[in-house]
Amino acid sequence: MSRVSIKGQESSVTVGKIVCIGRNFAEHARELGNAVPDSPILFMKPASCIVPDGGTVVIPDYTNECHHEVELAVLIGTRGAKIPAEQALEHVAGYAVAIDLTLRDVQNTLKEKGHPWEMAKAFATSCPLSDFVAAEAVPDLGNLSLKLAVNGELRQNGTSADMMRSVAEVIAVMSDYFPLEAGDILLTGTPAGVGRLASGDQ
Ligand code: ZN
Repeated sequence: MSRVSIKGQESSVTVGKIVCIGRNFAEHARELGNAVPDSPILFMKPASCIVPDGGTVVIPDYTNECHHEVELAVLIGTRGAKIPAEQALEHVAGYAVAIDLTLRDVQNTLKEKGHPWEMAKAFATSCPLSDFVAAEAVPDLGNLSLKLAVNGELRQNGTSADMMRSVAEVIAVMSDYFPLEAGDILLTGTPAGVGRLASGDQ
């Protein structure tokens, strides 16, 4: 069972589901040749795919293209369904950085066939996750930098200012479809610069 805690707080919480939104940054949609969607693209990862800070990812043997997607992660603190955007941030306990690891070749094949994405998105170790910081400690959600470096080389360098749906809007739209509960984690989309990881990369 995966548990997460917030820095400086004694208690920890069991992770429920991880709900993710696709193509929330226009530049990223374009780099993969995808349309910028009008309706949300939502999918989930199971809690079992979390790798804590400093852990090791195991790239499955059925892929040749494991991509990194750095994302702002939101920890839900209180339950809600059909949450209005104006009240959405009241449901947040904390924020972290996650990597939505994606087997791009597998995903493309699944997309072509019209099949679900779990085999590309929900494999073991597919969600490296930092420690959370308390929501109160993050004053400006609209201006957070999202960076990912591979072996010291900067690959992704985005900002939450470029999210098409803000954090509050992401919570609202996800909770329209899925009731959110304490311990659920939301991944809010990746900026441009996604790319392939090789075995041994840091
Ligand atoms: Zn993603």
